[in-house]
Amino acid sequence: MPHPHARGADTGAGFLDRATCLHRVSHIAAETSSTQQPLAALWIGLDRLKQINQSFGHQGGDIVILQITQRLREKTGGRSEWYRMGGDEFVCLLPDTNADQARKFAAELIQVIEAPLRFGELLLHPSASIGVVVLEENEDSFMFLERADHAMSAAKRQGGGRIVVSGEEPTPGRMGILLAREELAIESQLHEALENGGLALHYQPIVSLDGHIEGVEALMRCTTGNGSIPPGKFIPVAEKTGLVTRLGEWSLLTGTGFARELANAGLRTKVAINVSRAQLISPKFSQALHAALMCSNVSPELIELELTESLFMDISAVVQDNLRAAREAGVSLAIDDFGTGYSCLANLKDIPATKLKLDRAFVIVLPHDRRAFAVVKAMTQLGRELGMTVVAEGVEEMNQLDALREAGVDAIQGYIHARPMPKETLLTWLKERNPT
Ligand code: C2E
Ligand code: CA
Ligand code: CA
Repeated sequence: MPHPHARGADTGAGFLDRATCLHRVSHIAAETSSTQQPLAALWIGLDRLKQINQSFGHQGGDIVILQITQRLREKTGGRSEWYRMGGDEFVCLLPDTNADQARKFAAELIQVIEAPLRFGELLLHPSASIGVVVLEENEDSFMFLERADHAMSAAKRQGGGRIVVSGEEPTPGRMGILLAREELAIESQLHEALENGGLALHYQPIVSLDGHIEGVEALMRCTTGNGSIPPGKFIPVAEKTGLVTRLGEWSLLTGTGFARELANAGLRTKVAINVSRAQLISPKFSQALHAALMCSNVSPELIELELTESLFMDISAVVQDNLRAAREAGVSLAIDDFGTGYSCLANLKDIPATKLKLDRAFVIVLPHDRRAFAVVKAMTQLGRELGMTVVAEGVEEMNQLDALREAGVDAIQGYIHARPMPKETLLTWLKERNPT
């Protein structure tokens, strides 16, 4: 079955290996003239092999793979070339084939694969997901195969037993790969920052309408040899990879330490620290909080935890325990990004928070958007009735501040007062405002 020109390691059942596949793609691409049809590839991934392995052991999985490879071997013909990319993933190269022809062939393969398969007493119903890709001009073999793999994964995500043509998946192939690569780069930068002291907290003041400083919010910054990454980019990656728990523990320790430094300098200012969902759903959270409070030796009333509203869609017993433990430790709680649409108002009354932070999205359209103004006013009243202080975020202009005053908010945070700043700058800023 392998192409006669192809040389490389046979991975069993006549399938050649990944390296040979890459080499062949480059070779065919170089040979294909502009008048010919391009090269197509199918990346085939067997579905649910993990479950089969779990239920029947690896031997079971091997038997299924063997039977399916035999079926594929019988099916192939013409100029198709076959490669095995991993345990249950195969690639079929189809020279001189366009997308429609490749899709048709993929549909035939799915039919072949889906025929029931006897396994001892059982009748299994195998299925496969197939990614289809057509070589683009000047595309290298790596990107070509990565696109095929990505399309196959998109087919799996849609439930398996499907064909996805690269470029037609929800996140188009090339784009998806670039995004995945960017995420990997960010992840490695985050590791580097954690190890080499590239993380810092900047602090942004929260000021009441009468000019009193209510506290500061700690906002994480990440700088590595490759420059700095904005939190809007690295926090989602950290959340995806689980790194956010380590970052969060670092924030807790650093933020509480800074609250202590402020107190030592005679500036008793509350420090608000952002806590992510991953931290709060972990049973280890209260331990991490206690450890931070102990290490920093700070009075807990100087610490506030900002919890995003999305956390309250569904409050688990662990989250409830963590919130209770935080309150019992004497730390206050704020609901962040309020109004962004996730919270269940019924849950709101059960959260022991004392502050409500209205999201910047409402502020940005003030004072002209009267409907937004009405919503801000209603949310402010709701917060008040629940005994909370209401803070508006992202205030940049005087006319926004005036509207917020009219709506009844208690305090504001935004560039109008100050941007987030390094701790040394903040110390100077606070001292200038509180001359002793
Ligand atoms: P957030 O908690 O809603 O923080 C407020 C964001 O609004 C900050 O963005 C702040 O710099 C920005 N901001 C404040 N005032 C203004 C303004 O007047 N105009 C504009 N345009 N923006 C303003 P930043 O620092 O980029 O942080 C983005 C988000 O990253 C934060 O949103 C928070 O969700 C997350 N984040 C930051 N630090 C941490 C952290 O230590 N832990 C966790 N879990 N998340 C963090
Ligand atoms: Ca926040
Ligand atoms: Ca916020």
